[in-house]
Amino acid sequence: MIRSGIGYDSHRFSPDRPLILGGQRIPHGLGLLGHSDADVVTHAVIDAILGAAAAGDIGALFPDTDPAWKGADSLNLLHRACLHVQSLGFTPMQADVTIITEMPKLGPYLDAMAAALAREMGLTPKRVSVKAKTNEGMGFVGRGEGMVALAVATVEEHR
Ligand code: MG
Repeated sequence: MIRSGIGYDSHRFSPDRPLILGGQRIPHGLGLLGHSDADVVTHAVIDAILGAAAAGDIGALFPDTDPAWKGADSLNLLHRACLHVQSLGFTPMQADVTIITEMPKLGPYLDAMAAALAREMGLTPKRVSVKAKTNEGMGFVGRGEGMVALAVATVEEHR
């Protein structure tokens, strides 16, 4: 059986933080605030995979009250989430991500993000898609207060 899940994440921009998206360090004056590395892209993918397996969410699996995850590399969390759903009888198959932000321009980094996400999921790069768009200046994203990522992931259920 093929099952799909949806993931959403948002983080607030903050000075004095690196900007890490899909495991890639991206040069920009602002990073994202969070307990882990605040990789909004990878967090959305993790929630989509967990959702597809009806296995809870990122906050339950990696609580931000646990010092073990402070400053965590989110690609490592993605790898752990994939191992978790595999232990429950599911194999991640693919993911598709949309990043919504006014700045910076992410076109040059999308392929590297997809390749890194795919690697942690045990997939070939073409099984993962990462896209980016602006919010046309509207709302908190439009004002440059933060960044949003949406993801869909598919897993195969083994009986
Ligand atoms: Mg997050």
